[in-house]
Amino acid sequence: MIRQLAHIGIAVSDIEKSVDLYRRIFQPDEIHREVVPEQKVEVASFVIGNVRIELVAPMSDDSPIARFLQQRGEGIHHLAFESNEISADLVRLKESGIVLLNEHPTQGAHNMAIAFLHPKTTGGVLIELCQRIEPQSE
Ligand code: ZN
Repeated sequence: MIRQLAHIGIAVSDIEKSVDLYRRIFQPDEIHREVVPEQKVEVASFVIGNVRIELVAPMSDDSPIARFLQQRGEGIHHLAFESNEISADLVRLKESGIVLLNEHPTQGAHNMAIAFLHPKTTGGVLIELCQRIEPQSE
């Protein structure tokens, strides 16, 4: 079940410039930095209230973010919603006619399993579902 807005993803071309800019605007206590090799992106994020703002920059020209920047320029890229059962949600959405960009969840930032829905089937909004990966008990 989709529970709540988790973060707002913003595509940026220069992560350092954007960190400086958003630091000036929001004055966050702390900015979390992370590289996500699976998505070929570098991420800087911070929390305002109960929503995270996630700045996403491409690490290579074949990153999906690089293609987005070429076509649309910097700006809001996706909305991410937290699910408590992402695999079941993906099955339900596919059955209802939503096209999945990830048939199965993949590794995202913040130790989350993530999957994207195709914006052509979600009213033009790129939607990400995410679910925290529970640590494996030994
Ligand atoms: Zn995201």
